[in-house]
Amino acid sequence: MLSASNQAQTPSGVPLIDMSRQYSALEQELTAAVLRVCQSGRFVLGPDGQQLEESLANYCRAKHAIACASGSDALLLALMACGVGPGDEVLVPSYTFFATASAVARLGAKPVFVDIEPSTFNLDVRRLQHCITSATKAIVPVHLYGQCADMPAVLEIARQYRLAVIEDAAQAIGAELCGRKAGTMGDIGCFSFYPTKNLGGFGDGGLMTTDRDDLAERLRLLRVHGMEPRYYHRVMGINSRLDSIQAAVLNVKLPHLDRWTAQRQACARRYTQFFAAYGLDRVLTLPVEAPDRRHVWNQYIVRVPEGKRDELRAHLAERHIGSEIYYPVPLHLQECFAYLGYGKGSLPETERAAAETLALPMFAELTADEQELVVREVAAFFGPRHGLTGPKYLKHAAVRQQ
Ligand SMILES: *Cc1c(COP(=O)(O)O)cnc(C)c1O
Repeated sequence: MLSASNQAQTPSGVPLIDMSRQYSALEQELTAAVLRVCQSGRFVLGPDGQQLEESLANYCRAKHAIACASGSDALLLALMACGVGPGDEVLVPSYTFFATASAVARLGAKPVFVDIEPSTFNLDVRRLQHCITSATKAIVPVHLYGQCADMPAVLEIARQYRLAVIEDAAQAIGAELCGRKAGTMGDIGCFSFYPTKNLGGFGDGGLMTTDRDDLAERLRLLRVHGMEPRYYHRVMGINSRLDSIQAAVLNVKLPHLDRWTAQRQACARRYTQFFAAYGLDRVLTLPVEAPDRRHVWNQYIVRVPEGKRDELRAHLAERHIGSEIYYPVPLHLQECFAYLGYGKGSLPETERAAAETLALPMFAELTADEQELVVREVAAFFGPRHGLTGPKYLKHAAVRQQ
């Protein structure tokens, strides 16, 4: 928590994310939980891991939750459990973190990249059908930035062509679509506890959810070298279990997740109001919530027009305001996927997003003062060029009161 004197000060910079604030607020509970694991001598999964799996199955309203070593491994294990292998094709977005597609490639299968819809940055379901062949085995929709992809349409196509659906919910824990939680609509949901995710550990961690008993059993087997009973290997698995220390940390944090999400949502609303007050909603494209969604705002992403994105980023950096580009090179244009033969221009919306988007500071503890500083500096950058002066500038005072 910030002290009253801190709140009164105008901030001198704004970090993209500041994890120390969440840590200070929970420090005693967190250090006690970690110490307890050290004393217990149970370091892999163990009682803390089991408790986390139960709590998260409950939180996500999934029948099963299986913890593993990272979100990347969750995707790999999920594809393995669905039997994806050499010769198979898997439909994935190109505008996402690398792990979504690398999991497919690591199994000898072929990632088939699908373009996105520009307003939500998620899979354009109208394009899915054109990418399906007799080799297509699965679809991996990503709930990017904390907002669910169009799952009803994905599930309908999957049903029609008998494809597995693996949700990449790494950025979307707690997100909903029509009241259903991210990660519980397809066959398997994959989550990440990387420190910058909405529920972050003190290192790597991941989890898979499923309602299917057969898949749950397979996932549990695959994460321990396919071993059952001990030293008898039924299938080719990997070593991917969650450390007890991470589970203990996450068990302390989980009860706060919905409050943090509400704070992120308040931050998103405030940004939108500030930008409008400064007239910047005419200059930037602000993020939108699609209908029937509960957006959990892992990132607040704006589109910057006219090739000015990198200049704006440099302007903010000079003023100690953090920002980031997710993702500067779409996956279909990455060197390691050159063998797939996608050229520049093959996924136009994906490439446009990669060139225009900028992530602004977003975390639960971000203050209104800090957000106003961010917006003021964006206005200072565009102001002279876009006539952003006059009464609009004064309106922000009214927003501050809300
Ligand atoms: C973070 C992330 C992952 C990978 O999670 P790790 O825990 O870092 O391995 C996968 N997909 C998306 C969309 C992510 O944001």
